[in-house]
Amino acid sequence: MIAIRCSDEIEKIAESARIVGGALRLAQGLLAEGLTTRDLDAEIEKYIRSRDATPSFKGYGGFPASACISINEVVVHGIPSDRKLQQGDVVGVDVGAYKNGYHGDGAWTFPVGEVSAETERLLTVAQKALIRGIEKARVGARLGEIGHAVQSHAESHGFSVVRALVGHGIGTQLHEEPQVPNFGQPNEGPILAAGMVMAIEPMINIGGPDVRTEKDGWTVVTRDRSLSAHFEHTVAVTENGPRVLTCPGPGDPG
Ligand code: MG
Repeated sequence: MIAIRCSDEIEKIAESARIVGGALRLAQGLLAEGLTTRDLDAEIEKYIRSRDATPSFKGYGGFPASACISINEVVVHGIPSDRKLQQGDVVGVDVGAYKNGYHGDGAWTFPVGEVSAETERLLTVAQKALIRGIEKARVGARLGEIGHAVQSHAESHGFSVVRALVGHGIGTQLHEEPQVPNFGQPNEGPILAAGMVMAIEPMINIGGPDVRTEKDGWTVVTRDRSLSAHFEHTVAVTENGPRVLTCPGPGDPG
């Protein structure tokens, strides 16, 4: 069953998601060579709590931190540590916030200082793939249109899409139905209706699509150790089209 949220519920998800967008903007401003991912995580947690919300990820399945911070070949679920950011790294920051009974979830991948042209291209294509997917989150569309749009965009630029991890419905639970793959055919999946809320989150690799989980049980890396980028928005399907709730975020003006 995919939950249909009334407008009051969507506004509550939007409030949590706005906190996520703000936390990602904060992260963007803090990123610098020498910053440890543990310190970045602490600032994100402080920000979330200052908005009377709690970090959705802390303790989720035993996850030990507030943000997932995933550097370079780490796709998602990186655990904050004493590792210091270095010039040329790409850093994925994934944040969830819970307030008034509802979750918001979003992620952004940032360059640290100057990165290579190929890395820059990965970030641009992955971000655009997310936008392409969001554009399909419309009343009457099939869920598969989202994944197909993401996959088509990424692969047309020579990158690959992670298959082992997918997006998800979101609301009173962090992860709800449906699963939202970043691949597939446009004629697959349930038909979208107004009031559905999903976290759409492409994970795009420079190399192959395969991933594996490190011994810590969390850190997901590309099997070929190629760079990976992750962008995520919480999106509501409305009668007026897709509404991005994790905003303003790092990609928005002002
Ligand atoms: Mg998510």
